[in-house]
Amino acid sequence: MIRPLVPRLAIIGAGLIGSSLARAAREKHLAGTIVVADRDAAVCARVRELGFADEVTQSAAEAATDADIVIACVPVGSSGAVAAEVGPHLKPGAILSDVGSVKASVVEAMAPFVPAHAHLVPAHPVAGTEFSGPDAGFAALFENRWCIVTPPEGADPAAVDRIVALWRAAGANVETMSAQHHDLVLAITSHVPHLIAYNIVGTAAELEETLTSEVIKFSAGGFRDFTRIASSDPTMWRDVFLSNREAVLEMLGRFTEDLTALQRAIRYGDGDALFEHFTRTRAIRRSIIEQGQETAAPDFGRRAAEKPKHEQS
Ligand code: NAP
Repeated sequence: MIRPLVPRLAIIGAGLIGSSLARAAREKHLAGTIVVADRDAAVCARVRELGFADEVTQSAAEAATDADIVIACVPVGSSGAVAAEVGPHLKPGAILSDVGSVKASVVEAMAPFVPAHAHLVPAHPVAGTEFSGPDAGFAALFENRWCIVTPPEGADPAAVDRIVALWRAAGANVETMSAQHHDLVLAITSHVPHLIAYNIVGTAAELEETLTSEVIKFSAGGFRDFTRIASSDPTMWRDVFLSNREAVLEMLGRFTEDLTALQRAIRYGDGDALFEHFTRTRAIRRSIIEQGQETAAPDFGRRAAEKPKHEQS
């Protein structure tokens, strides 16, 4: 019998990410025992029905007891509370990790509760959807996606290797960087785009009634993709912006300057400036597709997804 990568894996928070990780661990036999904790009794009942955990409990402390790896899969604003709850129950050599979309503030919030005999190794799987809850998860979520591991200074290399191995085994490509660098990169690739989506959909919702209904009717023209992003979980995104304030404000400042330059080009009819800008941005999309992080299918693959399976090429 092959020894599983993690004898006892505890996942705290059974939402999109926690339930996907549990499903991947189950499907790929990564853990001897998968324990899932969620503070919500209804979520626990649903996890039992879905059957991707060996044990289900409302108590994070109970889940963490005897666990080799404990992963907090909760909104970043709750990561400190989870660390406070599980910290006293971590066994010697246990690793506490997370999946939060912001890293520096999470390390700051969790570190004080990790006893000297345990290790803190935060991580962020850069994979997700706009859906939440245990029904939204699926085992293939991390397949060929990036997972960024951000070990604090002086982290135990063996503990870091175990978290890297877990995410690789779940299907992800892993990169290691500092928490601060992670937060700056993610501010421009994920956080500011979400803010723009929330803002443009909010602006449309504030228009006069007739205009709003036309916006919905003709939404195919780019707006529809913003509405998908802007339907993401409000708690998660509130926490992301409050936790990554400095980096988001820095990138938002640069974004506003560039937007003003485009506004100026439109005002003065500077077609060359607009053409040059749009040519540059098109090249970025090509390189994302080349790196396998997006589909080149027309309409973002939506038409293929809508077709019955046998008609898909
Ligand atoms: P989610 O679907 O909303 O699930 C979060 C779950 O954690 C909920 O069931 C929530 O219960 C539970 N929870 C909250 N605080 C808790 C606590 N103190 N103890 C126990 N359970 C608690 O969220 P998600 O999308 O999986 O996101 C989880 C984390 O992954 C976040 O930090 C997010 O930044 C990160 N992440 C998300 C994505 C994405 O696309 N969604 C991608 C990468 C990383 P309640 O409903 O009772 O609050």
